[in-house]
Amino acid sequence: MGQAIYFSPLNPLRLRVLSEAGGVVAWRRVEIKEDCPRRPLLFQLDIKIAIIGGGPAGLRAAEVAAAGGAEVSVFEAKRSVGRKFLVAGRGGLNLTHSESSDRFVTRYTGSDQPTNLWASLLADFDSAALRRWAFELGIETFTATSGRVYPSEMKAAPLLRRWLIRLRGAGIQFAMGHKWVDLQRSGSGWRLVFECDGEDQFFEADAVILALGGGSWPETGSDGSWTACLERLGVEVRQLVPANCGWERAWPATVLQRAEGKSLKNITVRAGIKTVTGELLVTRYGLEGGTIYALGATLRNMSPAQLIIDFKPYHTAEQLVAKLGNCRRNFLSEAQTRWHLGDAAIAVIEAVNTAEEFSSALSTAHRVKACAVSLERPRPIAEAISSAGGVGWAELDSSLMLRRLPGVFVAGEMIDWEAPTGGYLMQGCFATGTRAGFGALARNRV
Ligand SMILES: Cc1cc2nc3c(=O)[nH]c(=O)nc-3n(C[C@H](O)[C@H](O)[C@H](O)COP(=O)(O)OP(=O)(O)OC[C@H]3O[C@@H](n4cnc5c(N)ncnc54)[C@H](O)[C@@H]3O)c2cc1C
Repeated sequence: MGQAIYFSPLNPLRLRVLSEAGGVVAWRRVEIKEDCPRRPLLFQLDIKIAIIGGGPAGLRAAEVAAAGGAEVSVFEAKRSVGRKFLVAGRGGLNLTHSESSDRFVTRYTGSDQPTNLWASLLADFDSAALRRWAFELGIETFTATSGRVYPSEMKAAPLLRRWLIRLRGAGIQFAMGHKWVDLQRSGSGWRLVFECDGEDQFFEADAVILALGGGSWPETGSDGSWTACLERLGVEVRQLVPANCGWERAWPATVLQRAEGKSLKNITVRAGIKTVTGELLVTRYGLEGGTIYALGATLRNMSPAQLIIDFKPYHTAEQLVAKLGNCRRNFLSEAQTRWHLGDAAIAVIEAVNTAEEFSSALSTAHRVKACAVSLERPRPIAEAISSAGGVGWAELDSSLMLRRLPGVFVAGEMIDWEAPTGGYLMQGCFATGTRAGFGALARNRV
């Protein structure tokens, strides 16, 4: 047995290195302050933890494992880590959200998620902890009027640069260009097999954390090829499907001429029993935008998928009829002016209804308030912001360890959860990375 470390409940900034007999042999500074376990924990010091995948979930797990005293190596298939993290920063890195924890937990969905799962994951590492973590890296954050939280500079690159310096400073080793392909038992630990420059490379570890990402933007490295490896090892993996993405619908040329690239604003959009307020963008292939992203999970379960758009959500049908006054014909064209409907909205309304449906003021109001738009399919997964599906929750224990592969943990988007845009994805990756990092340490508790 090696030495053990002890997180001081009084001063979580320091940990004691204990000999087997319990005598203090050294002190170490703990880099991660806020999320150190509140209760004393003893871990073996000389354990090797392998993290596979250098996205935010994997890097966070590595950080926690290294702060717990483990010898940590990060393996990454690409020549550099954090490629999707950098892509996420292009339009402004939305790190997390400022809403209350009660509301926050409702953002995470997925089949068979254990009850209170996200309340427990976020209790370990919530949005306040994520902001403090960024602050400790010298990155200030701010809350936009939407409640979304961004780094002041909006970008991901400065944050990632500082983070990697800190991780390297904590002794974490990085092995780039290592594509994980297999896992074999080796004593009480695991033997990992990587493809590296056309050759097999092997690595032995006491515990393994897989943080291999979902299936969107495969050029960043998260290509979902790991699903076959885990299925071969007997783990149930739900098919990776596009989430937070546009949906396809073939618009007639007349709609494209009038509406392509234009936003449908101040609308509510419903799918099934879920309603979202916001905007939709009319594109060459269909519809895009935050509202349709938020409805993705519901749309995927509908056959056929259909949206109901309310173009005048702040008026009742009766109020709209009253605004038409003594109008007796051309109801839709009068409505465009009197109800302030944009040209793009009229193009969409006309495309999905027949002329008879605008034969009276009331039926026009009904069509404008409940405009049914059927959709064909989501855009390809390669274009999506994230993916749903992945390792099933029934395969995991509460420390995110694979029940069939003791000592192997998973974190991040590769688990079967999804969340809308708004910083929830990043927060989910940090929270699961934190849990898996502590899980791997605790498994090797003395
Ligand atoms: C355009 C875009 C914008 C986004 N914007 C935001 C945003 O503003 N806010 C937000 O919260 N989220 C955003 N996201 C989502 C967010 O980036 C992801 O949810 C997050 O990066 C997932 O983290 P992860 O660590 O689970 O996986 P990833 O970041 O995908 O990392 C997985 C890593 O594993 C590596 N890997 C995969 N297979 C192997 C293998 N076999 N062997 C070795 N390594 C492997 C990959 O190369 C990759 O580096 C955005 C995504 C996109 C595409």
